[in-house]
Amino acid sequence: MINLYGQEINELTELMLSEGQKKYRAIQLYTWIYEKRAISFDEMTDVSLKFREVLKEKYCLDLPKIHTKQVSQDGTIKLLLELKDGMKVECVLMRYNYGCAVCVSSQVGCNMACSFCSSGILGKQRNLEPEEMVGQVLVINNLLKEEGKGQHVTHVVVMGTGEPFDNYDNVMDFIRIINHQKGLAIGARHITVSTCGLIDGILKYAKEGLQTNLAISLHAPNNELRNALMKVNKAYPLEKLMPAVKEYEQISGRRVTYEYLLLEGINDTKECADQLINLIKGTMGYVNLIPYNETNKNDKYHRSSGNRVHAFLDMLTKGGVTATIRKEFGSDIDAACGQLKAKSEGAYEK
Ligand code: SAH
Repeated sequence: MINLYGQEINELTELMLSEGQKKYRAIQLYTWIYEKRAISFDEMTDVSLKFREVLKEKYCLDLPKIHTKQVSQDGTIKLLLELKDGMKVECVLMRYNYGCAVCVSSQVGCNMACSFCSSGILGKQRNLEPEEMVGQVLVINNLLKEEGKGQHVTHVVVMGTGEPFDNYDNVMDFIRIINHQKGLAIGARHITVSTCGLIDGILKYAKEGLQTNLAISLHAPNNELRNALMKVNKAYPLEKLMPAVKEYEQISGRRVTYEYLLLEGINDTKECADQLINLIKGTMGYVNLIPYNETNKNDKYHRSSGNRVHAFLDMLTKGGVTATIRKEFGSDIDAACGQLKAKSEGAYEK
C-alpha cells in the first residue's frame, strides 16, 4: 500500500501517469486530501468509481494514532504518536500569537548522542518516512479543527526527535509536501530545519533553492566544550562547521539561527559569551538562547538561572551579536525533546 500522504507532487504525478491517469489527477488528489481534508477515497466524487476502486486497492490515507496526549496549562499539546510498526514518536503544538507551530520529529530515536538530550538515550531506531512527518502535522491539524476556533498549523519546525540531515531525502520530501500550494501550503519562511551540524546536509540544503530556514544547534563556542556536549563535533569541529554555515548563507541568502542551550556554569560564562561573539560576529546569523529543560532528577546539567540568562544575553548584545531568549512552552508536560517517549519507555531507568 502506498500512503498518499507521503507523496511529493512530482512523485505522485509519475505514479498517476503510470496508472494510465492524466497529469491533473495528482493535483486533484492533493486538493482532496489537503484542502478538502478527505479521509477516504469514497469522498472523491469527481474521481471515477472505477479509479476510486484502484486507489482503494493500492493506496491508503493512514495517519499515526494518538497514543498519549498531554495538554499544558499554556495550551501546548504534546502527542506521543504510534506508527504502523508500533514505534512511537513525539510532536508538539505550540501556540504563538502569530500562529500555530508544530515541532516535528524526523527519526525514531537519534544517533547523535548529545549528552544533554533525551532523544539520543536509546540511539536511532529508524528514519521516519515522509508520510509519518506529514502525519504529525495532519494529526495536529485535526485536533485544531476539533477545537473549532478556525486555527490550523501555520509554522513547522523540524526540531523534534532525530537529526533531519541524517534522514535528508525524506525530510526534503516532507518539506515539499507541506510547502506545496495544493498541499498544506505552509510558507517556506514558516518552515525551519534544525541540525546539530552535519556539514554535507547543510551544503546540500543550501542548494535546494528553498526559502526555508536553517537553525544550527551550536550550544558551545569552542571545540573542547562542544566535544563534551555534542559528539558530532568530533567529526565536524567548529573550524569546519562555521565555514559551511557561511557558505550556506552565501548560497541561500538566508540568515541562520544559532541555538544555544544555557547550562549553568558550563556554557553561560563571560568567557563563553566572548568566544561566541567572536565566532558569530561577521556572519548574518543570530543567536536563540534556549533555557535548558532539565530532563530528570539525576540530570547532570542544570538550567541557568534567569539572571544568568539575561546577563548572557546582555553580553552578546553589547558584543554586537543579535540574540533572543526562546519562549518556553509546556514545561509542565515533558515538552522538551524526547522526554515523553523516554519516560513512557522507561529509558531514564536504563
Ligand atoms: N538534531 C537536530 C534537531 C533536534 S534537537 C538538532 O540537533 O538541532 C532540537 C533542539 O533541542 C536542539 O537545539 C537540541 O540541542 C535541543 N534540546 C535537546 N535537549 C534539550 C533539553 N533538554 N532542553 C532544551 N533543549 C534541548
